[in-house]
Amino acid sequence: MSLNIQEVLKRLGIEKVNSGICTGYGEWFPIEGRKQLVSYNPTTGEPIAAVTEANAEDYEKVMQSQVKAFEEWRMVPAPKRGEVVRQLGEELRKYKDDLGALVSLEMGKIYAEGKGEVQEMIDICDFAVGLSRQLYGLSMHSERPGHRMFEQWHPLGPVAIITAFNFPVAVWAWNSALAAVCGDTSIWKPSSKTPLCAIAVQHIANRVMKNNGLTGIFATIVGDRRNVGEKMLADNRIKLVSATGSVAMGKRVAEVVGMRLGRHLLELGGNNAIILDKSCDMDMAVRAILFGAVGTAGQRCTSTRRIFVHKDQSAELCRRLVKAYEQVNIGDPLDEKTLMGPLIDSGAVETMMAAVEELKKDGAEILYGGKKLDRPGCFVMPTIVKAKHDLRLVHEETFAPLLYIMDYNDLEEAIEWHNEVPQGLSSAIFATNLLAAERFLAANGSDCGIANVNIGTSGAEIGGAFGGEKETGGGRESGSDSWKFYMRRQTCTINGTKELPLAQGIKFGD
Ligand code: NAD
Repeated sequence: MSLNIQEVLKRLGIEKVNSGICTGYGEWFPIEGRKQLVSYNPTTGEPIAAVTEANAEDYEKVMQSQVKAFEEWRMVPAPKRGEVVRQLGEELRKYKDDLGALVSLEMGKIYAEGKGEVQEMIDICDFAVGLSRQLYGLSMHSERPGHRMFEQWHPLGPVAIITAFNFPVAVWAWNSALAAVCGDTSIWKPSSKTPLCAIAVQHIANRVMKNNGLTGIFATIVGDRRNVGEKMLADNRIKLVSATGSVAMGKRVAEVVGMRLGRHLLELGGNNAIILDKSCDMDMAVRAILFGAVGTAGQRCTSTRRIFVHKDQSAELCRRLVKAYEQVNIGDPLDEKTLMGPLIDSGAVETMMAAVEELKKDGAEILYGGKKLDRPGCFVMPTIVKAKHDLRLVHEETFAPLLYIMDYNDLEEAIEWHNEVPQGLSSAIFATNLLAAERFLAANGSDCGIANVNIGTSGAEIGGAFGGEKETGGGRESGSDSWKFYMRRQTCTINGTKELPLAQGIKFGD
């Protein structure tokens, strides 16, 4: 596909490509004396553009406007807030192709996946619009005569959204669309590896706010850990820190936000596995593994990293997977024929190569790949490794297309090995035997936040609550009742009588 990327950037409001200056807060902030953050194209290793980083003073200014904006926004009726989010969804529809292309350019995922990410943003906006009329509280029966008890949900306050590089736009929308209908303002700190995507999204959001006479409902602040990241964690004005990223980052967020008894929503690393039951449809399983392990070059939190296959079927699975991997076109993510683009940066390539070396030393067998490609950019071969379930690296998330195949003797053993890692995000079983599928879904089956049957580990829909257990952090975003994270619950009791009975029948001074 031939895309005029300069045109795409221009349409998205990022005009000064390669001029060293490009900022989402041009109207509000001076750029003099600020650091420049250069964004690189992982496909070529070349710089695309630079973004002005906020300093500590800028952070303070944004936060003050956030607090002010919240004071007004919380009083806007929720369905009216939904109307603004509806318009955001409409605006995103217009820019789906352009924004999808920018995601491919800056992050390296293929264009189809880049557009898919923008579609997720649109979907969550639609979901949030409906939700804006459904922020229901329960009503309970009081034990006291003539009393009425119910709960209501109020806006929480400014929400910090900290995002990872691998979903440079969708994760913002999962959070900000829900936060907005819930009456919260949001302040986004994107990954320093994908600042342009954030600037482009902010431009889109700015137009929507302007059309509605609003400011500060959605704000973005690009900055480093010291001036922005750590400040957000410690800032009492921020009522929820929703952080997506590595386990190490999540532990830091939990520590600092926890110390001030703030609220956090953590979406951290996964180490997702598929169990192939003996009854599985192997064709389906191979296709799901290919998408799960090679898609996004293995850089999804839900990427498939571990496969448990019955020892009698292992040789066939390995043969079929190697054949499928040989067909994978690796290259420019904006080329329609490409199935796998680059890793995000050279550091990610080095981490993967170091992992391959350690695996070899530990006696694992490389069935396919294990090498970087001899060309500019951050390209590696997707890699299949025959391994033992208890190798150190098998229990870790290496954020790269590394797939471990492990043989089991019976389903009980496979489930035990499946659950023995510290992470708990996504999981799947391929089985046509109902009993095997049900065993996997039982309370002593998969211990993950997501458990699929005859579907791979990646590619969740926005309608369900998304997130994981154990070191994945326990947060839930997106659908179902995840919105409750973004609001405060108030239990109200009204006494409609002239008596003052106490709960539990207590008599006090009567
Ligand atoms: P990362 O942890 O390096 O960075 C994530 C974000 O946290 C970035 O914006 C970074 O600047 C910020 N950050 C880091 N330290 C911080 C601090 N002390 N204070 C405030 N902010 C801080 O992660 P990454 O390399 O960008 O992304 C890959 C990781 O994200 C993988 O582990 C992946 O599994 C995980 N991830 C999880 C989900 C999920 O929903 N569970 C989704 C996407 C990615």
